[in-house]
Amino acid sequence: MTLKPLTALAATVLLIGACATPVSVSDPVPAGPEWHLAIHGGAGVILRESLSAEQEAEFVAALNMAMEAGAAVLREGGSAVDAVQAAVLPMENSPLFNAGYGAVYAANGTHELDASIMDGRDRNAGSVAGVMHVKNPILAARAVMDKSEHVMFAGAGADAFAESQGLDMVDNTYFDTEHRRISLEKVLERRARTAAERHGTVGAVAIDNQGNLAAATTTGGMTAKAPGRVGDAPLVGAATYAENGVCAVSATGHGEYFIRVGVAKTICDRVKFLDETVGQAALVALNEVASLGGDGGVIVIDGVGNVDFVFNSAGMYRGEISADGATTAIFRDQTEGAE
Ligand code: ASP
Repeated sequence: MTLKPLTALAATVLLIGACATPVSVSDPVPAGPEWHLAIHGGAGVILRESLSAEQEAEFVAALNMAMEAGAAVLREGGSAVDAVQAAVLPMENSPLFNAGYGAVYAANGTHELDASIMDGRDRNAGSVAGVMHVKNPILAARAVMDKSEHVMFAGAGADAFAESQGLDMVDNTYFDTEHRRISLEKVLERRARTAAERHGTVGAVAIDNQGNLAAATTTGGMTAKAPGRVGDAPLVGAATYAENGVCAVSATGHGEYFIRVGVAKTICDRVKFLDETVGQAALVALNEVASLGGDGGVIVIDGVGNVDFVFNSAGMYRGEISADGATTAIFRDQTEGAE
């Protein structure tokens, strides 16, 4: 069983509460967990030969910018949930990722976005599905978590709730980009047939200096999806899960399979009840996805901050950052930081 790390604060409270051993203020404070954050920018058919050196550099720069945004929160002693939100935001604003600005097109030429966020402290969560007008879906998910009594809003009601919270709203054409339009045309003309060529998502998991875990995921879904289709990204337990002392997960891949396997919750339950490492548990869950015919990947972090990346696709945009530095990777045959 993975034990919840005893933070300096918790230790202090216990000592005071028990009144057994007087502590001097000069006693050394036990070292707490150290912050650590991992991100992904989608998994799929990402082959070395299909990315130019220039494109690869653009992705690496965008991944670094996202990680730095999350790390800035954690370095200052901020919470894991604020950090995962901060890391996802720049990826939502980048045309490179299928999340906000760069969201794929549904079959009818519109964009419908999904997002979720979860705080491992109390397993509070918020999500939105099928939003068309809120500029940053992860902020809408966060508002659902913090400002409503619900966990999930969908469609027009989700956009209306986001607007009522003062979030930036945009016309659906804000999400139009040339490269996603071409992808839609390819799928509609059946020039791109595999599901792995149709998806992409962004996500983050983190542990803060207090040992709190959090996870966040945003996506535009799958290119040429049926209008109204909801993937795994807004579903707590499918693409996103976080529980302090256990694990946090953000997934990317062919959502229908991730929903059917319940990937994120399966991983955390295996860690919690079977004492597997996050890497072992993620492998089992991904094998289940593969056995049903799906592909994709996950980023996982355990209760003390160990990070793992597990995917069965050709590549996954990914990176991790801690006080020791930052690394990124894209392709399957690449260890993090190998560029
Ligand atoms: N999981 C997302 C979905 O199915 C897509 C992706 O992660 O690439 O909507």
